Amino acid sequence: MTSDIGARALHVLETVFGYPAFRGQQAEIVEHVASGGDALVLMPTGGGKSLCYQIPALLRDGVGVVVSPLIALMQDQVDALEEVGVRAAFLNSTQSFEETLRIERLVRSGEIDLVYVAPERLLTQRCLELFDASPISLFAIDEAHCVSQWGHDFRPEYIRLSVLHERYPTIPRIALTATADQQTREEIAHRLQLDDARKFVSSFDRPNIRYSIVEKTTGRKQLLDFISSEHPQDSGIVYCLSRKKVEETADFLNEHGIKALPYHAGMEYSVRAANQSRFLREDNITMVATIAFGMGIDKPDVRYVCHLDLPKSLEGYYQETGRAGRDGLPASAWMAYGLQDVVLQRRMIDESEADETFKRVLSMKLDAMLGLCETLSCRRMRLLDYFGERSGPCGNCDTCLIPPIQVDGTVPMQKLLSAIYRVDQRFAAGHVIDVLRGAQTERISQWHHDKLTVYGVGADRSEQEWRAIVRQAIALGFVTVDHDAFSSLKLTDAARPVLKGEQKVQLRQYQKPVKAKRPSSSRSSGYEELELSRSEQQIFERLRTWRMGTAREHGVPAYVVFQDATLREIAKVKPGSLDALRGVSGVGEKKLVSYGDEIVAIINEMM
Ligand code: ADP
Ligand code: ZN
Repeated sequence: MTSDIGARALHVLETVFGYPAFRGQQAEIVEHVASGGDALVLMPTGGGKSLCYQIPALLRDGVGVVVSPLIALMQDQVDALEEVGVRAAFLNSTQSFEETLRIERLVRSGEIDLVYVAPERLLTQRCLELFDASPISLFAIDEAHCVSQWGHDFRPEYIRLSVLHERYPTIPRIALTATADQQTREEIAHRLQLDDARKFVSSFDRPNIRYSIVEKTTGRKQLLDFISSEHPQDSGIVYCLSRKKVEETADFLNEHGIKALPYHAGMEYSVRAANQSRFLREDNITMVATIAFGMGIDKPDVRYVCHLDLPKSLEGYYQETGRAGRDGLPASAWMAYGLQDVVLQRRMIDESEADETFKRVLSMKLDAMLGLCETLSCRRMRLLDYFGERSGPCGNCDTCLIPPIQVDGTVPMQKLLSAIYRVDQRFAAGHVIDVLRGAQTERISQWHHDKLTVYGVGADRSEQEWRAIVRQAIALGFVTVDHDAFSSLKLTDAARPVLKGEQKVQLRQYQKPVKAKRPSSSRSSGYEELELSRSEQQIFERLRTWRMGTAREHGVPAYVVFQDATLREIAKVKPGSLDALRGVSGVGEKKLVSYGDEIVAIINEMM
């Protein structure tokens, strides 16, 4: 029985979606849910969660109900399914009453395979009564972390989704999320009454993403250099902390020839939605956004995610960077970070309304984030370790590719710590560094700090270099940035053994920030198979142009027609016939019929 389901699942995967094999735990999950089991699926972004409920819905009788928090994306989700020949629809407030009635009829008669609804819609009496009277194959609860009260995507209606279990105890439920932390996982299982569901936990590693974190100097200018040198033809996302900075950065990029759009919660809804839609539809476009942007964005070919400001936590950093490279092709996560970020984030925590316990949690999260920024070892190891996953050096992050040189930094650290002590722990980093470097400022003479023994003892190092040492001192826990309005530096108890010479300190050897070079592709990124020759590159470009036109005609995002990975494979295989095209990953039966002739004609014309 089970293996029969397995064989049917594989058949659907091949003929409908055009993929030759399941990935990771997909096969197991599909079999389990198709056989009527409940599941809680924890899989990173890009892991392939959608197929985990779409295929069971196709294998079981009746309509699969997908609960999704994002009304704005439902149309694209449905379009993508229709492109591969799956009968799908959504029910939401953007529809006319006639349209609603039509979809409801289809659901009641079981004439569609999948219907998407937002949680608040599902919880209405009308909708529940509709489902009472319809053949339902399963409930899929997407973005299930929205049930967590502590996360920033919290949706109160999600908590009430426990009604599904009570009202439809025999219909299988599958909850899915890419949120990696333990607390959220437990909360999902508990609140959605999925304690007895089978848990499928994938590795949270995203091997195709290359992590790099650079010292912030000019910020925007560095960003521009990064995009123009490494991703000039690609789409990406740039995260900034404030709305103002989002707009300024988008303007700056546009002025310098990078097509960029802003997105933040302060913009008018229609403008925001239009920008999101353009980002999803067009190639070669950059979205500059606050963290309000991103959940559920399915665009598979986002090639880079940049942070111009320090995220508040590793959870946030992981989620945001995870939006790069969903298609499995190489992608970059790039961040510029500086001492000012630390000071700002600390101040935001101190000034927030949260109670002391919660502030402590926020501080600990920030410390973990700093730890990643200042680590001397593999960034990926550090990140995965935070989520409870052990791994070795990855070979695909900046610290693996160009290992930082460790030096004995005991003496400069002692100089810094004693300077902080000598100025009575009442001054911010800028002044402490001025003292160390023997600067002549008004403040120094006002406070007679030029009389201190530490005055000028650090003149051999640049201001930038001292800033790097201060950041490491904070990340290592010797120094904290104080709550007061001056963000003064304070010593912790951990500083004492260093000052007394009882403890040595390893520091990163200072290197002047250099312009990013295009990285050579690494072993683990899996790029080689899809590396294109010059003539193949031309075919790929031609196919992309064709795709843009076709997508526009059909009013769907380009990736819904074919993804980059599929177009690259076509450019490589150069199928001269429909049969040859059938073998390409991502070409199912329906797309073969819709687009096969056109693709084959393009290939033949270019050969
Ligand atoms: P998630 O929702 O987990 O972020 P998606 O369901 O959007 O991931 O899938 C991510 C990408 O991987 C999509 O581009 C999808 O087409 C592709 N994909 C998923 N499963 C497979 C598979 N078995 N073989 C090839 N590609 C797949
Ligand atoms: Zn690494």
